[in-house]
Amino acid sequence: MKREEFLNEKIPMVEIFNSISGEGITSGFLTTFVRVYGCNLRCSYCDTKYSYDGEYSLMAPIEILGEVNRLNCKRVIVTGGEPLEEEKIKRYIPLYLAQNGYEVRIETNGSVRLYDEDEIYQFTSKKERKNLFYTLDIKCPSSNMDKFNIFEENFKRLILGDEIKFVVGNVDDLDYSIDVVKRYKEYFKGVTLNFSPVFSKIEPSQIVDYLKIINKFFAENNLDVRLNLQLHKIIWDKDKRGV
Ligand code: SF4
Repeated sequence: MKREEFLNEKIPMVEIFNSISGEGITSGFLTTFVRVYGCNLRCSYCDTKYSYDGEYSLMAPIEILGEVNRLNCKRVIVTGGEPLEEEKIKRYIPLYLAQNGYEVRIETNGSVRLYDEDEIYQFTSKKERKNLFYTLDIKCPSSNMDKFNIFEENFKRLILGDEIKFVVGNVDDLDYSIDVVKRYKEYFKGVTLNFSPVFSKIEPSQIVDYLKIINKFFAENNLDVRLNLQLHKIIWDKDKRGV
């Protein structure tokens, strides 16, 4: 899509607010969250159902930018729902905000295509993505959505500063995650691998114990692996919105 076409559209939006990044390598940084409406998956543990079956308002891109400007953070996380759903106008919000000087991270569920060079070029007139990073989920079996994972086609688009998130609910999920890491490890240099517990399904210490057993493999392959706890669920009530 061309930028000019995008600017004439209205986009279903759930909320835009400031908080701290609760996860991954940006954890703790003050951040503006831009939550789009709609998701193509239905994960068993979804904690943001309101992002696809709740209320939304239609906003023009210039209104979204205006609200992000007003909130005054240099970092933006575009989340959902699913921001990169294909054939949807919302897919271009991250490119638009990055073009306007924000450091943008896209939280994407791993079942939709990341931008390719042509798509970036069409929108920005530049071949490379700038100010734009991915936090790419790999859905594990306990989500019931693992059959929708896109692997190689997305992994080959990852660069330094991107991250992958495995949300794990049990040992089978850990086994599945490590199998994916072993199969595609050549794509994960410079990409942080996060292991995140499904709240109240698995103890974080169990994940650490599991990862410690295969630490040699991570070290030999120069892979950066971390336990990822959701800070906002520690600081605030686990169901509290807009924090
Ligand atoms: S991808 Fe995210 S928003 Fe969509 S159903 Fe799964 S957890 Fe919920």
